[in-house]
Amino acid sequence: MKVGFVGLGLMGAPMSRNLLKAGHTVKAWNRTKSKVDAFVADGGEAASSPQDAAEGADVVIIMVTDSPDVQAVVLGEGGVVHGMSSGSVLIDMSTISPEVTREIGATLGEHGVQMLDAPVSGGVLGAQNAALSIMVGGPTDAFERVTPLFEAMGQRITYCGGPGMGQVTKLVNQVIVAGTMAAVSEGLLFGAAAGVDLDAAFKAVSGGAANSWQLENLGAKLLQDDFAPGFMVKLQQKDLRLVLESAKEMNLPMFTTPIVHNMYRAVEGQGHSDEGTQAYIKGLEALAGVKARSEKS
Ligand code: NAP
Repeated sequence: MKVGFVGLGLMGAPMSRNLLKAGHTVKAWNRTKSKVDAFVADGGEAASSPQDAAEGADVVIIMVTDSPDVQAVVLGEGGVVHGMSSGSVLIDMSTISPEVTREIGATLGEHGVQMLDAPVSGGVLGAQNAALSIMVGGPTDAFERVTPLFEAMGQRITYCGGPGMGQVTKLVNQVIVAGTMAAVSEGLLFGAAAGVDLDAAFKAVSGGAANSWQLENLGAKLLQDDFAPGFMVKLQQKDLRLVLESAKEMNLPMFTTPIVHNMYRAVEGQGHSDEGTQAYIKGLEALAGVKARSEKS
């Protein structure tokens, strides 16, 4: 297929490469041009604007940060809507508000363009290995048409319902991920305070009922004092904000998520916004006066 791609960040860079590897033609735009130059070096085409990326494309994929960013690159001046032809499909793979998703989809519909929301889980590793879990909302005929693109980027592709339901599913994912990270951190800190060999404790519990993606991947990293992202604290804050905004709209009580959101605020206050979400432990350590890891010198 002829694909326009907007957003070559930590996720978009490997995802766009996997589309090339699967034999699709990909023309990409990124706000910071150096990332487009690297994409061209890997066999892609350069676009001079989101609109240019969309000209002549069957499908346009967006992978930027937050709701206002998607609105800007889709509907703003030079946005993809000005280049997309009637009958083409826009796939937004960023994690944004379900409500804003539905608004953008309605505007695109006036131009004869179908929209799918298709946020992902699996992190940078999942993006590199074409092993993402992709959660899709929107019209089923569009979903069927673009499934080969999803298959080039992911392993588990799930149709979750109408417009916005991919984003809702992603927020379910984030509630679970955030609560698990808090539990992993608290468990390891408890072990450290009680004097256990944390490497032994990690080995034991990651082979039992307490194991999870968060423990196996991020627990292991934080024990090695490795706080490189992965998934940045500031992006998790954005996602938990989206969860809490939706919960407020629904008058739904939530208990764990607000605590994790506040702890990450403390972690951001400590200057760790751009670190991976395993930096949660730094907030706990500061409160407890106990370290769960030996810091690198
Ligand atoms: P990132 O590395 O910070 O990349 C963000 C991308 O969006 C960059 O290409 C950036 O351009 C572009 N961008 C942001 N605001 C823009 C604007 N207003 N106009 C034009 N371009 C803009 O983030 P990421 O990790 O790739 O995340 C992208 C999306 O995937 C987010 O919604 C995130 O929540 C989601 N996600 C991330 C992960 C993960 O593990 N990282 C996992 C699942 C889902 P520049 O290069 O110019 O900054």
